[in-house]
Amino acid sequence: MIPPGETIGILGGGQLGRMLAMAAAQLGYRCHVFAPEADPIAADVCAQATRADWSDAAAMAAFAADCAVVTYEFENVPVAPLAALAEIALLPNARALEVAQDRLSEKRFVSELGGTTAPFHVVDTAEDLDRALTEIGAPGIVKTRREGYDGKGQWRIMADHEAQAVPLTGEPLLYEGFVHFFAEFSVILCRGSDGTVVFWDSAENSHVNGILARSVAPASERVLAQVPAARELAAKVAGALDYVGVLTLEFFATDAGPVFNEMAPRVHNSGHWTIEGALTSQFENHVRAICGLPLGSTALTAPHVEMRNVIGDAAEDWAQILSDPANHLHLYGKAAARPGRKMGHVTRLGW
Ligand code: AMP
Repeated sequence: MIPPGETIGILGGGQLGRMLAMAAAQLGYRCHVFAPEADPIAADVCAQATRADWSDAAAMAAFAADCAVVTYEFENVPVAPLAALAEIALLPNARALEVAQDRLSEKRFVSELGGTTAPFHVVDTAEDLDRALTEIGAPGIVKTRREGYDGKGQWRIMADHEAQAVPLTGEPLLYEGFVHFFAEFSVILCRGSDGTVVFWDSAENSHVNGILARSVAPASERVLAQVPAARELAAKVAGALDYVGVLTLEFFATDAGPVFNEMAPRVHNSGHWTIEGALTSQFENHVRAICGLPLGSTALTAPHVEMRNVIGDAAEDWAQILSDPANHLHLYGKAAARPGRKMGHVTRLGW
């Protein structure tokens, strides 16, 4: 067990790191954030921050020397520089990071464990794309294998001729057949260092322009019927990776059962509702897991919990939101509101 008072290293400086650091502080830990950007918002609430490129081995070694354990809030951290952390634990481990960094490897990994994915085909060349369209057909989505998020790096192909618009620059891509789903949901679990697994209620998620807009728990009856199978798969993934911490799997709910979409080896936007909506949040249980502490209860604190993201520069009346005691407002302290940027979220507890 890592005792309170020690320092937790966080790779990545966004809102997930910020909320992790706030949960860690509640348990008496200090956090040190490592991020390449000039002004990481997680640093506002951390004891220490290192601003350096991922490849800066000296900075990574100095960071490691200050930390009792290191975790990440961003799955696109390059794996190679993490060798500098060898002496201390990286949790979740680098294997989880590697698998989840590439849409192809995560789909293969999950398929081998018995999960269902959308039909997919690797696309490196124009010929590959033709073959993918012949084998799988339109509609479908071309996605970058790495570093895509919030619908970025995706091209929807409604008819074969639209494939010509996809820029084939040599970046590894994947073509996925379109899944006809009636809902989307996530499974968020936390696995302790002793292998104990806890799940939060699965939230039903809705997206706008590929970005999460709203998560509602509990999900509808139709989705709830698919949760046991999805949980079983998620637990297998966690076990196979010898995973410690919070793991998220996103699913499409279809008439044929849950179809795995993607996984994130970290706390997740669709679990922000757990801060007020569960007895122990995803952030706190992640901290507990990586520090070797017992995991807390994930039970709901209200019969109905709803989280909506505050996105871009949409005009919002903060005073009005705050005047309703059912609302809990979280703003991430980001300076400029670019279209599509996640600026905060509001969780609403309902009785
Ligand atoms: P992703 O970045 O893969 O999570 O995609 C963002 C969103 O696009 C998903 O949450 C879905 O709403 C939609 N989407 C992605 N892949 C597919 C697919 N194969 N079929 C249907 N919708 C999809």
